[in-house]
Amino acid sequence: MRDRHLYGPGPSNQYPEAAAAFAAPLLGHLDPEFLDIMDSACDGLKTVFATDNRRTLPLSATGSGGMEAAFVNTVHDGDVVVVGVNGLFGERMCDVAARCGATVVRVDHEWGTPIDPERMKKAHSNPAIIAAVHAETSTGVESDIAALGEIKGDALLLVDMVTSIGGIPTPCDAWGVDVAYAGSQKCLGVAPGLAPFTINDRAFARRVEHPRSWYLDLGLLGGYVGEASHKQQRTYHHTAPTSMVSSLSAALRAILAEGLENVYARHAEAGRIFTEGVREMGLQLFAADGHRLPELTTVKVPADVDSAAVRRYLLDVHNVEIGGGVGKYAATVWRIGLMGHNARPDRALQLLAALKDAIDHVRR
Ligand SMILES: *Cc1c(COP(=O)(O)O)cnc(C)c1O
Repeated sequence: MRDRHLYGPGPSNQYPEAAAAFAAPLLGHLDPEFLDIMDSACDGLKTVFATDNRRTLPLSATGSGGMEAAFVNTVHDGDVVVVGVNGLFGERMCDVAARCGATVVRVDHEWGTPIDPERMKKAHSNPAIIAAVHAETSTGVESDIAALGEIKGDALLLVDMVTSIGGIPTPCDAWGVDVAYAGSQKCLGVAPGLAPFTINDRAFARRVEHPRSWYLDLGLLGGYVGEASHKQQRTYHHTAPTSMVSSLSAALRAILAEGLENVYARHAEAGRIFTEGVREMGLQLFAADGHRLPELTTVKVPADVDSAAVRRYLLDVHNVEIGGGVGKYAATVWRIGLMGHNARPDRALQLLAALKDAIDHVRR
């Protein structure tokens, strides 16, 4: 297998433990051994989400499926949902919430800046839900979720933690997060295809009884995971993607064995080394100072450099994938990830050298 797509925010940052579990012989979805693995994955997710929520599980869906599950189960027709938008994924939240019947109150922020809690508070006096993206992957910006927890009032706080989980702290209970979803393929270092999900009792009690989605109905998913006290009582809902769950479980075990604080420190260190190196190369950063994600650095493409040519060269010559920008920044920003297993100083240095070589090559 080629050691390719090492760095991009895609299926590129897999922990070796996750890869080994994924490649192991298949287990049946009702095999008791698999049910133990599912339990261990749910427990691991509780630790990473830092929550006591018993409804914490990996949904068989990608991160976007997690987003859909979050809204379709909590938005009643006409509910006011205040959405902070500072990038692509905030925009997607608006679309999904509206399709679930929400009256969306959109609070737009300049891309590259964090969500402003004061503006979110002033946007509506009594919203049902306040929603925001913790780590905006389209811009490389972290928003202050704890501050949203402080201003949420009676509203549910619904948070996208797709790119934060496993890379920076995501203490849901301490921050007052009621519903959160994530993805397996970013800092958790697993293949794409699972959406870690957590919902507290308060949000579950307010849920939509018969949401418009059958597959994502959390009421039906209850018997599928740990809520059933005996494994024999588990009800069939859908066939769990067993290899994916095994892989996630293995990654979580590796992460917790390393220690969450150490994992976060490793991401921070790799991000710091990469950011400093980028600056030394004379390049400029896109995301606002003080709000940058260590796991995803956004770099402005120099005016005399063709963004696509650099990305192509990195892929062809260095087997490294970086992302282009999103929307109007497609050709003017690079999005460069150091996530999961890639969040290491040696890989940060390797990535810097590759980027420098690619830019020099394209300039020649
Ligand atoms: C990647 C991402 C998603 C979507 O996840 P998919 O697995 O691609 O569906 C949602 N939100 C954020 C912040 C992301 O980075």
